[in-house]
Amino acid sequence: MDLNSHHGTGVSLARASAVETDNEPALAAWLPDESLGREDHLLINPGSLYTEPVPEFYLEMRRRVDEWFRERGLAKTAPASQVFKCFLFFGISLATYVLVITETVPRWAMLPLCMVSGMSLFVFAMSVAHDACHGATSSRRWANKLACHAYDLAGVSSYITNIDHMRGHHRAPNVDGIDVAIGSDVKPTFRLHPEVPYHHWHYLQHLYFPFAYAVSTLHKWFILDYAEIVADRWGLRSRNPKKVLLALSFKALTLFWALILPLMVMHVRWWQVLLGIVAFHLLPGLLVGLTFQLTHISEGNAFPSMGNDGRLHTSRALHTLETNLDIMPKARWLNWLSCGLTLHVSHHLFPEIAHTYLPDIAPIIEKTAAEYGVPYHKRISLMDALGAHYRLLKHFGQTPRADYAR
Ligand SMILES: [Zn+2]
Repeated sequence: MDLNSHHGTGVSLARASAVETDNEPALAAWLPDESLGREDHLLINPGSLYTEPVPEFYLEMRRRVDEWFRERGLAKTAPASQVFKCFLFFGISLATYVLVITETVPRWAMLPLCMVSGMSLFVFAMSVAHDACHGATSSRRWANKLACHAYDLAGVSSYITNIDHMRGHHRAPNVDGIDVAIGSDVKPTFRLHPEVPYHHWHYLQHLYFPFAYAVSTLHKWFILDYAEIVADRWGLRSRNPKKVLLALSFKALTLFWALILPLMVMHVRWWQVLLGIVAFHLLPGLLVGLTFQLTHISEGNAFPSMGNDGRLHTSRALHTLETNLDIMPKARWLNWLSCGLTLHVSHHLFPEIAHTYLPDIAPIIEKTAAEYGVPYHKRISLMDALGAHYRLLKHFGQTPRADYAR
């Protein structure tokens, strides 16, 4: 079955229900690396996790979105401008890195340039790798697989990140036990779900979150990827040792250019190199942490729990609407810089669409949701989104047994 079609009117009702029941055997051997842009597709009900079938409102949204692309003769994959953005930011990152490591610039300029270099490297990676893991960067499978390696060039294992992202996030956002972004990735630093055990430091989580987010990519570089390999999360080590070896090779390459090479060629102390690495991560850490968390952990979003049968008693499309948020849907500059992370309702509903087009389809989603009487969450300013995030962090941190489902 081809769920990765980039043209046409989408999937019919009959076909949609077939997808619901037919996908079980394929999912048994599921690892996202072999299935770019499949299990994250909203017509799939992975492991029959959701009790309800694909709702009518979602099929109508798909029909209208497909029509928007057909009328304009556009593919849903990344346009040339998105690929240009990827190369532009890689160029900025490389140029600033070379300026620092060759000590061409004065000492005072080095840390700011490290910050620019780090930010640019992560925007480069997010420009193509995130869409690619959903099969949305190119219509060619090999090109998506290649684009995923932009993560590896940025020091983040694409193999581990893609598994976490699709199996441990897109499958069921904001559900404890499935979504690693509210669970194992952030425990015990944060309490982001009513079922997560309470610790006394959570009382201050609404105050320390910016500092924790600022080091999130640093944490991913040096701790999280390795910890997942050691823990064999998702069976990623035991099921595919070759991919783990490739992931570790890329991690070694990162250690070389970020740590060993500067220590070898620069006339600086070791702690100054470490300071440079920290500076390198501050902006991308904040960008990734804030955009990702603000769209899920937000006042008004739902934090459902699985039923006693281990299933979610809703449809996947409705769950997606209830657990996501679009921030400033009309601000193309924000979508451009965040590589689509600020339009999370749109992305989770249509992960097979490149992020460049999300501001175009967000109004279609909003209008259709209003017609069908289903929720569409949006915040119209960054302060508005930040306030809703802050208040919910405070609520979860100061209400040990918070009954906050939706
Ligand atoms: Zn995604």
